[in-house]
Amino acid sequence: MKNIAVLTSGGDAPGMNACLRAIVRKALFEGYKVYGVRNGYRGLVEGDYTLMNRKSVSEKLNRGGTFLGSARLPEFKEVEVREKAIEQMKKRDIDTLIAIGGDGTYQGAAALAKMGIDVIALPGTIDNDITTTDYTIGFDTALNTIVENIDKLRDTSSSHSRCTIVEVMGRRCPDLAVHSGLATGAEYIITHESGFNADDLVSSLNVAQKNNKRHALVVLTENVTDAFALARTIEDQVGIEARATILGHIQRGGTPTAADRVLASRMGHYAVDLLSQGIVNQSVNIKRNKLVGTDIFETIEINKTAASCEEMHRVSDELK
Ligand code: ADP
Repeated sequence: MKNIAVLTSGGDAPGMNACLRAIVRKALFEGYKVYGVRNGYRGLVEGDYTLMNRKSVSEKLNRGGTFLGSARLPEFKEVEVREKAIEQMKKRDIDTLIAIGGDGTYQGAAALAKMGIDVIALPGTIDNDITTTDYTIGFDTALNTIVENIDKLRDTSSSHSRCTIVEVMGRRCPDLAVHSGLATGAEYIITHESGFNADDLVSSLNVAQKNNKRHALVVLTENVTDAFALARTIEDQVGIEARATILGHIQRGGTPTAADRVLASRMGHYAVDLLSQGIVNQSVNIKRNKLVGTDIFETIEINKTAASCEEMHRVSDELK
């Protein structure tokens, strides 16, 4: 019987629990002994492991967050710290790790793979910034949360004839901004990819004014420019009231959508399928609705290229 460990790491994402459920149930079905590791790589190093059974993952499918907990452990970049994690794994005869998380989690998994641990990494992040997969677990839920909140802001924005600026998450990935902007009919979408030009934004809003639009919506990816300063620029240069809202962590929580539960269940099941075929050191991806594995070292290299949303920007522009 093979012993495996599973953990969630980095930022939590809705659907991580559904994924854990699928991994644990499928692994038990295949005859593996499964350890759940609390708080990501921190628990892996500190020996915070619990043996899982079918019931350990009961009533989890529909819950947001991660019941195993997640943590950030920057020291995991150091080889001595990873050696401690491997010692803890060896004590329990574990030679395989399934890690659910974002790009940082993938880096940690790849570093363990280089040290002889068999790994499978699954994309659990709302940002959709794992380039090898079309969708990550949590993206759909976060997108729906953003759209729901923008719809609410729109009521006030339109009643007061304002410009509303909404800052969304995504790290450097444009997807949350571009998808939510398109779904809510944003006047202007600002991402790291598109860059930001104040003159262009002002002239776009002036055109909207001329067309007698009741209000304008600007969707902005985090860390491109200051949303509140942007509101002041718009007030000064366009002469309309402007308000900025940063949605923040509200985007990360909540009950996973059906789409995320399905994706998480399929990916978790597939991860164990790969293992049982002896295929390891892979990331799990969905491409054109097919599950595929990609070499983990290739995945972390490919992740360095920014995702492109050029076509969606164009659709959004032409539908304004
Ligand atoms: P995410 O997985 O959501 O991208 P982080 O970037 O915070 O979140 O990464 C999660 C954890 O992965 C970090 O706290 C750290 O323990 C580990 N990690 C990140 N980068 C590396 C790296 N280059 N080498 C080893 N471990 C890493």
